[in-house]
Amino acid sequence: MATAAATAATLLLAVSGLASGLVVPADERCHSTDNAVLGIDIGATYSCVAVYCKGRVEIIPNDQGNRLTPSWVAEGGGRLVVGEAAKEQAAGSPGRAVVHDFMRLLGKKFGDDDVQREMTRLPYAVVDMEGKPHVRVEAADGDVRVLSPEEIAAAVLAKMKETAEAHLGRTVSSAVVAVPVYFNDAQRRAISDAGGIAGLDVMRIVSEPIAAAVAYGLDNAKSDGKRVVVFDLGGETLDVTALVADNGFFDVLATNGDGHLGGEGFDQRVVNHFVDLIKRKHGRDISGDGRAMHRLRRECERAKHALSAQHQVRVEIEALLDGGVDLSETLTRAQFEELNDDLFARTMAPLRKTMADAGLEKGDIDEIIPVGGSTRIPKVQQLIRDYFDGKKEIVKVNNPDETVAYGAAVIGRHVAGDDDDKPTMLDLPSFLSDTISIETAGGAVTPMIPRRSRLPAERTHVFTTYLGRQTAVAINVFQGEGSTAKDNTLLGRLELTGIPPASVWNWGWRWRPIQVTVKVDELGDIHVEAADEGSGKSERLSIVSGEGHEHGRLSKEEIDRMIREVAEDLVEEERIVKERVDALNMLETYIVKNTAVTGGETDCEAKARAASEWLDGNPAAEKEDYEEKLKELEDACGPFMAAVHETSGLGHDEL
Ligand code: ADP
Ligand code: MG
Repeated sequence: MATAAATAATLLLAVSGLASGLVVPADERCHSTDNAVLGIDIGATYSCVAVYCKGRVEIIPNDQGNRLTPSWVAEGGGRLVVGEAAKEQAAGSPGRAVVHDFMRLLGKKFGDDDVQREMTRLPYAVVDMEGKPHVRVEAADGDVRVLSPEEIAAAVLAKMKETAEAHLGRTVSSAVVAVPVYFNDAQRRAISDAGGIAGLDVMRIVSEPIAAAVAYGLDNAKSDGKRVVVFDLGGETLDVTALVADNGFFDVLATNGDGHLGGEGFDQRVVNHFVDLIKRKHGRDISGDGRAMHRLRRECERAKHALSAQHQVRVEIEALLDGGVDLSETLTRAQFEELNDDLFARTMAPLRKTMADAGLEKGDIDEIIPVGGSTRIPKVQQLIRDYFDGKKEIVKVNNPDETVAYGAAVIGRHVAGDDDDKPTMLDLPSFLSDTISIETAGGAVTPMIPRRSRLPAERTHVFTTYLGRQTAVAINVFQGEGSTAKDNTLLGRLELTGIPPASVWNWGWRWRPIQVTVKVDELGDIHVEAADEGSGKSERLSIVSGEGHEHGRLSKEEIDRMIREVAEDLVEEERIVKERVDALNMLETYIVKNTAVTGGETDCEAKARAASEWLDGNPAAEKEDYEEKLKELEDACGPFMAAVHETSGLGHDEL
């Protein structure tokens, strides 16, 4: 077992590298490292690249000397510009030629409701191309380019590759890339494609919290069974994940988050504060001045960073207002905390939920790993410590915005084959990105597997038929967070036909129970089974995840067509079913009325019983047959009187 000991030792080394700040003298750089596999954290706001060499991980600075590169991409005269330069360009042409926060679009369909929602918020134009969201950028010369999210991500990955190559003095062609833990198969595939476009062979796609845990050496044998919470507060999002170390692997117990909570929001509060201050002091509103707002935003982010290390900061911008008026103010940490008080407090809800979902008590946690630039904020660290009852020692804060890239580089080293005894990290758990629901009567949906559920996930729910003596049900499977079917995306439809109608004598079974099981497997493929227990009839449907038809998922055109057809079918189908059921209901009501009211064996009651037996023997009778039987009964028992329409009133989900 010498090899295992060697692994533990090198991992310890790697971890001490993180603690010591990773400054590497020039002569020790990894110029000659063979098989270098980069570790890349492609974030919503900042990206980071690292490489393992000479016994430790090195975070690689970009051409500006920064260890983090803004995930901003701009059209710059026929080529794409990435990083600081792109972010700067936003000042000149806000919303036209500059793209950021594009990770939300990766691996999604244009019609997905979250894409539709994000479109109203994103400052650039998102257009539909073959069912996939694309970004429309306008170059300075008026040229228009339409870019896929993969191309934009590729530009960022290419920049990280270039950064590493400039530093290492040689070409690098492989990487391990970290993505959010809840990224599904399509999203992971999109990142892999983006790597391909950038000339990088993406050898592993690893979930961010797992990379963070690896950075802290929790994949060594000593850590087996340790329970860890990764609290990742970045620029746009908060992700909290509970993991347990399992013999070099990690078992993700639960994950929760907030897709719109992070550093950009904190900056905005500070920006608003100064906009108001300028209004009060100078009677000017700068909120409509794109260039001034950009300069203010940049300065506010800088001030925020400074306040993580000091208690107050000067905020100075020369000639911010026209007429050459400068902004020159002091901002204190206390003011900053007050401006963001509610936002900071909001970070605790996903933490509480993750603990509850994982079934863990505070005392069960061995380590807390704050990740993401915004966990550098002292107040955020304090809230985390307070939550864990002041247990300082278990909260590990160390260059939190570099941790994920660091861990990815450690995994990169295993992948490069330096380390033969290391188990591969391929079989990482995945999570469902969007809720899977079943449509019920009236266009509502019943969620079956909630978003962010750990995969594989399975749930069985008993629905009931909607109409008395219904002999077929359609089970429409939807994806999305809307409460009605029309707010979600139709994934597929399963029909269960030829089910025997429920018996009239047993009111409880008149609405027949249909058992529906939805299972989402590790790859995100959805398997639906509907069964009528009484008759043993069942049908199955599998919806395979991934893009395009070759993977079996429906194209947007197909889905639109299906939605139209389903709507048209329903109108006709509903009319026929309704007329048949109305006739049946009248007959049933009349039978019950006449058998219940009369005591003896009158001609009327005998006919009613006979009619009932006929009903049981003819489950598939037509509307005309029921009308004929009713006529016979009326002849014996007198004319039908308006029946009270029976409703189940049980509040169950009707299909
Ligand atoms: P991403 O969300 O893209 O993964 P990061 O984890 O790097 O990116 O987080 C970026 C956010 O962290 C930005 O809003 C940035 O302003 C913020 N941030 C970085 N450093 C600090 C700091 N010292 N103090 C406060 N916030 C910081
Ligand atoms: Mg991040």
